Amino acid sequence: GATIGILGGGQLGRMLAMAAARLGLRAHVFEPDPQAPAAALCARHVCAPYSDADALRDFAQGVDVLTYEFENIPTDALDLLESLRPIRPNRRALATSQDRVIEKSFLNEIGLDTAPWAPVATADDLAAAIDRIGTPAILKTTRLGYDGKGQARLNTPEDAAAALAAMGGQDAVLEGFVPFTREISVIAARGLDGSVAAFDPGENVHRDGILHTTRVPAAIPGTLASDAVLIAARILNALDYVGVMGVELFVTPGGLIVNEIAPRVHNSGHWTQQGCAVDQFEQHIRAVAGWPLGDGARHADVEMTNLIGADVERVPELARAAKTAIHLYGKAEARAGRKMGHVNRIL
Ligand code: ATP
Ligand code: MG
Ligand code: MG
Repeated sequence: GATIGILGGGQLGRMLAMAAARLGLRAHVFEPDPQAPAAALCARHVCAPYSDADALRDFAQGVDVLTYEFENIPTDALDLLESLRPIRPNRRALATSQDRVIEKSFLNEIGLDTAPWAPVATADDLAAAIDRIGTPAILKTTRLGYDGKGQARLNTPEDAAAALAAMGGQDAVLEGFVPFTREISVIAARGLDGSVAAFDPGENVHRDGILHTTRVPAAIPGTLASDAVLIAARILNALDYVGVMGVELFVTPGGLIVNEIAPRVHNSGHWTQQGCAVDQFEQHIRAVAGWPLGDGARHADVEMTNLIGADVERVPELARAAKTAIHLYGKAEARAGRKMGHVNRIL
């Protein structure tokens, strides 16, 4: 069997490694943190910074194919790795999702709706963007944001200076606030042979900018659910994508608006572990390893709840709950805002 190299050793890397093991494949992980969740589960952990070219070369040469669990891998590291082994999903998918300007331009070019947006580097840019887009709006750093970090809300134009200051000098994007009725996401996969499969859309509820629950099925009409899947398929095909992707969407009275894409397995797809014969982690490993995509048909209604920070204290009680699967990431310290695990409850 093949050896899969995973860049990044967080919980997503850990669950990918578990899926690889189940398919009889080996997983190696590249991760600077010696205590990272995936470290203990991989056949090999190369523990080095992304600036260490020798470690990267050694890592790549020990695997057949490379994949990743986070999108902010430094470009120099990717250039080196790509010269040695295939990276799946490809560089274009990474470059597109690393940068909100490139991401939104791409989505609009392939005919998909996003929030109205404008790139913002200076106070003048921001003033012009507010003139065009209006408020309420959200200013987001172009790169490196996650869990709602690097974002500032503008309720009125007077909030401009404070929002710009919150960007800390980084390039940003102003987005019009989308008056959504629901948030949904589609976890979709594309195989090496170009076949596409999607899991049923899930409905997401965020708390303090962090995903709190995902529930399937989403309470949306079937026509919207199939629109969402078609949008995801269009994105995957346009990027010649191989692997699993998370596509976050806003449901509005006027139809679906794409919020952002993640070129990897996604927190809002964790429900698939208990809801489908083949979950998102296995699906990703299948795609990356060149296997046929598996059957991701949903066989249950599921609610996934993240255990964030002190939420892990509920584990003893959750361990007694019916129809509930507990997934813990093996993180020692339950810091505020840190994803410690999740539970999937069959409804
Ligand atoms: P993730 O951890 O999902 O990568 P992120 O930091 O990239 O998060 P976004 O997904 O852009 O952040 O935004 C986080 C949440 O903030 C969204 O799920 C949504 O609830 C809200 N939000 C973001 N942009 C908008 C918008 N333009 N209009 C309305 N709500 C928004
Ligand atoms: Mg994001
Ligand atoms: Mg998001």
